[in-house]
Amino acid sequence: MARGGLLAIFAHPDDETFGVGATMARYAARGVPVTMVCATRGEVGEIAPGTGATPENLMLYREQELRDAMSILGVSDVRFMGFRDSGMMGTEDNEDPRAFMRAHADGVRHMLVKLIRDLRPEVVVTWDKSGGYGHPDHVATYEHATAAFHAAADASMHPTAGAPWQAKALFYTSIPIEEFMRLAAELRKRGIDFGAPGGEEGLAELERVPANCVIDVSDLYDRKMEALLSHRTQIGEDDPIAKAPDDLRRQFFSREYFHRAHPPVPDGRVLDDFFTGLS
Ligand SMILES: [Zn+2]
Repeated sequence: MARGGLLAIFAHPDDETFGVGATMARYAARGVPVTMVCATRGEVGEIAPGTGATPENLMLYREQELRDAMSILGVSDVRFMGFRDSGMMGTEDNEDPRAFMRAHADGVRHMLVKLIRDLRPEVVVTWDKSGGYGHPDHVATYEHATAAFHAAADASMHPTAGAPWQAKALFYTSIPIEEFMRLAAELRKRGIDFGAPGGEEGLAELERVPANCVIDVSDLYDRKMEALLSHRTQIGEDDPIAKAPDDLRRQFFSREYFHRAHPPVPDGRVLDDFFTGLS
C-alpha cells in the first residue's frame, strides 16, 4: 500500500458502511489505497424477508453484500479474517468455538499486525470501545485492532509478522448518542420504531469517546445510502432505515463522526479530515 493508505477493520458486513462508508468513498476517489477487513461474514445476522437467504447460507449473501457495498463506494480491496459472528451478547452463538469473541487474542492480533505491516497504512479506523451498541464482536474488534495498531510498530512484538510499521493515526467510529436519539425520536414522531439493539436506555449507558473528527459527507449521501441498502439481508424494505423519510436520513447520514485516539487531539479541536497534520 502506498503512503496515505487507509485500513478499516470491522466485525460484520454493514458495520463499515454505517460508520465510515462515505469517508472511505471520499479517500478512495482521491486515490488513497483503501482496504476493508471484516472479522466475520455476519453468519448470525438478520435475514430480511424476500432475500432468499437462510441461516445456512447467510454468510455467502453477506460476503457478497459487503463486496457490493464496497464496489459502490469505490473500494476494491476487501478481506475476511474468517471468524464466526458471535451473535448478540447472551445468545447461544456466543458459545460456538469459532465465534470471534472467543478467538485467541494473540492469534487475532498476529493476523492484524501482519496485515498492517504488509499494507503499511497511514490511517487505521475501527470500532470504538462501546461497539456502538455493545455487540461483543464490535468490542473485540476495538480491542484487537487497537492492540495491533501499537504492536505493529514494535519490533519485539510478533517478530514473524513482518517488518515493524507505525501507522500514523488511529480513529474510532464515534456517532454521538444524541444524534442517534434525535433520529430515533423524529422517526417515532413519524410512526417508525427504530428498535435500537439493547434498547435506547442500554445505548445511553455505554461508555463512549467524544467525536473529535467530524467529516462532512453530504456530497456522498446518495452513495452511502445505496451502499447501506445493498446490505439487503440486514436492511430490508421494512427496516427503519429503509422506511425513514429521506430528509431525516440525509440529516443523520451527512456527517461521519470519529474519535482520533492516536495521536491525541488537543481538547476543543475538531478535525475534519483523517490525514490532517499527519505527514
Ligand atoms: Zn456489526
